[in-house]
Amino acid sequence: MSSSIPPVCPLYIGGKWLTPDLATMGAVHNPSRGSVLATVPMCGAAEVDAAVAAAKAAFPDWRDTPPNERAQVMFRAKILLEDAFEELCLGIATEHGKTLSEARGDLRRGIEVVEYACGIPTLLMGESLENIARGIDCHTDRHPLGVVAGICPFNFPALVPMWMWPLAIACGNTFVLKPSEKVPLTMQRITAILEKAGMPAGVINIVHGGREAVDALLEHPDVKAISFVGSTPVAREIHRKGTLHGKRVQAAGGAKNFIILMPDADVERTVEAVKDGAFGCAGERCMAGSTAVAVGEAGERLLPALADLVSSMRVGPTDVRETQPDMGAVISAEHRARVAGLIDAGEKGGAKVLTDGRGVLVDDAPEGYFLGPTLIDRVDEGNPLMRTEVFGPVLAVMRAKTLGEAVAMANRQAYGNGAAIFTNSGKAAREFRRTVSAGMVGINVGVPAPLAYFPFTGWNDSFFGDLHIQGKEGVEFYTQRKTTTTRWFSFGDGEIWAK
Ligand code: NAD
Repeated sequence: MSSSIPPVCPLYIGGKWLTPDLATMGAVHNPSRGSVLATVPMCGAAEVDAAVAAAKAAFPDWRDTPPNERAQVMFRAKILLEDAFEELCLGIATEHGKTLSEARGDLRRGIEVVEYACGIPTLLMGESLENIARGIDCHTDRHPLGVVAGICPFNFPALVPMWMWPLAIACGNTFVLKPSEKVPLTMQRITAILEKAGMPAGVINIVHGGREAVDALLEHPDVKAISFVGSTPVAREIHRKGTLHGKRVQAAGGAKNFIILMPDADVERTVEAVKDGAFGCAGERCMAGSTAVAVGEAGERLLPALADLVSSMRVGPTDVRETQPDMGAVISAEHRARVAGLIDAGEKGGAKVLTDGRGVLVDDAPEGYFLGPTLIDRVDEGNPLMRTEVFGPVLAVMRAKTLGEAVAMANRQAYGNGAAIFTNSGKAAREFRRTVSAGMVGINVGVPAPLAYFPFTGWNDSFFGDLHIQGKEGVEFYTQRKTTTTRWFSFGDGEIWAK
């Protein structure tokens, strides 16, 4: 067999690795090189049915496995994930294009969810009240839902699936995961680790593909709940369709996160944090600080230093251990063209490009999907850049006279994931925190993404559903409560053992 044929990314169903012979295959790219790493089967209803059937068959035994035993699988998974940490991170950097240090953050945040899931016996504890009436006690406890499914975006190949499977499985559900068809290799490697950790067959199952596979999951009568993370139009549709089919749905969507720069902000630390927030992971983050609003003198105080810092960033390939750039490639050639087109439109719309990432040349990786960091100033609310999530290495800067005006600008856009303020004024920070219409707020923190113990609380068009991903809300999402009221009759006057 020729070694130039890329391997097929297999499905994992009922504890077996399968490579179905499908007519439609997708390609997994290495964005740093523009090469194909693997092909991925674009599954339909038949493969989804098989995965759901395997998960359904595994459910009764897994549900009845005591929570402390389920936690042991998570403890073992945590240790094996740590052993494979660096190798997994290089894999993430290779299939996604983000830098190794960003890949480490991706996996580290994911492992923290596994650690949180290790505490599942405590998290699942119920509540009780004795003697709600004479001789009657009441208690409520949590039960798993059954088969639940997760559908993931491309931008965090480890973290986003790990927002889902550790808690879903630790709660006693069995799981069908559809990773992004653009980055399926990381979850393939993690699934092999879970197998080694003693995850019973059928408890986690992996299918691949796009809309057809997703529709089959949404319509399947045996799937009880759907966790989705991706763009807003798809999230909205998944929530609509999933709830129509009687499922519990949590659907996290896109974002446009506003960063308010106050005139009293610390210059050096603020520009560093704003640069990281906008250009970390090449801007392909739902918590990217993609829009800065400079209030009053803040523009003159901060922008020259920010422009200097941004223009010093080095872009390059990330699939090597030794020399890492400041920023990697974007996910595909099409996405690069889309983002560059939005910069063109923003410029035509009257904005001023301060550092231009279009046409960046990377000598040692000429085929990679690179776009340099772009800082674009004087963007107004009517500018085409403001109409959509850019999801690339672009920081749009707007101007406002007052904090109130800046918050009003932030609140007029449709999304509501994150928002941050940089200031030394407690009063300004408090006012901002209380009035901004976003679910995750940073005060002198550019990317206020919560850790595993807190919920990921997007608002507005950044989230559809009632219970968010992660933290106690995650446990709530993956369980249903049963409330039992108990009375024991006595036999006549004496004690039962006296009869
Ligand atoms: P996407 O919406 O294109 O795809 C997400 C998933 O949905 C993929 O698995 C894909 O196969 C599937 N899909 C795509 N189109 C579909 C359709 N029409 N019907 C059914 N399924 C479909 O998103 P993406 O480009 O992979 O990821 C980037 C997006 O994800 C950005 O908008 C980003 O903001 C968002 N995101 C949000 C969060 C959050 O927590 N809010 C976190 C990470 C990423």
